[in-house]
Amino acid sequence: MAEFDPRKEKEKDGKNSEFENKIRPHEFGEFSGQDKIIENLKIFVKAALMRKESLDHVLLHGPPGLGKTTLAGIISNELGVPMKTTSGPVLDKPGDLAGLLTNLEKGQVLFIDEIHRLSPVVEEYLYSAMEDYSIDIMLDKGPSARSIQISLNPFTLVGATTRSGLLTSPLRARFGIQCHLEYYDTATLFRIIKRAAGIMSVEIDNEAANEIAMRSRGTPRICNALLRRVRDFAQVKGSGMIDPTITRYALDALNIDKRGLDSMDNKILGTIIHKFRGGPVGLTTIATAVGEDAGTIEEVYEPFLIKEGFLQRTPRGREVTPLAYTHLEIVKDRLF
Ligand code: ADP
Repeated sequence: MAEFDPRKEKEKDGKNSEFENKIRPHEFGEFSGQDKIIENLKIFVKAALMRKESLDHVLLHGPPGLGKTTLAGIISNELGVPMKTTSGPVLDKPGDLAGLLTNLEKGQVLFIDEIHRLSPVVEEYLYSAMEDYSIDIMLDKGPSARSIQISLNPFTLVGATTRSGLLTSPLRARFGIQCHLEYYDTATLFRIIKRAAGIMSVEIDNEAANEIAMRSRGTPRICNALLRRVRDFAQVKGSGMIDPTITRYALDALNIDKRGLDSMDNKILGTIIHKFRGGPVGLTTIATAVGEDAGTIEEVYEPFLIKEGFLQRTPRGREVTPLAYTHLEIVKDRLF
């Protein structure tokens, strides 16, 4: 069986697939977890509506699949304005951005996903757009070059990034509201699974929902993807109802780790144990050994491993904990 990689589900589903749209929360009340962020955003949105002003620019950062796109959609919904969506790598010329910005209506939300991947020229254009709602467009080249200033309708930029460390400080400083999304606990993922199952009209019992929640790497995108796959197993191999037996059978068949770790998580832990005697070892050394970018390990993988108690940061580098050995079924003494 092909290996199931829930992180890839985003690409397969496409962000606008029918399923995604049905299951994605559309208002604050439907969004579970991230309580502090939601509480604050509700106030900022309400205040902007009362003043009849556009909402300050919002930066959402955190690992993939935690609800950044969803929150952007909710913000625009709650503001009662349409949202325009684009992403950092797509906007490679200032002209692309100018086209988008000049077409924005008053108060509209512009969502830029992967905003850390904007090219430096485009980013510079964004500065004046965000600050003064105006852009300078260059006409002609060489000696006859001149620029004209175009004013824009006030708008709200919502930027999302998995790698906030890569944002330049001038760009970051222009976001009046900054929210860091955290991994979800099992109880919250349980609620998300129950809600999604309700929308999909599939019966699921509490123990089964809890099992999926525990194996979802703290990530709503993963729990939704797993729920769909388990539903397939329940339909074909079971009675259609998702119970604990069919859930465990399906998750084992899909090679889903009992603690929700994915193959890169396990590779990082295994590498520290096997190649570096459990650590401490520097981040860049780990990155080279596993063939992944150091920043991605630091911002995308490591936070979950630390949160779950598999890894710790020490002044001398990263070190695995006894839990990592137990998890990988390795007895330290037998290794060295
Ligand atoms: P990101 O943009 O951070 O990668 P998304 O917003 O695309 O993540 O969310 C991934 C999936 O998880 C979506 O299908 C969305 O419906 C679901 N989801 C994310 N956060 C929540 C939440 N707090 N409550 C319910 N569903 C959520």
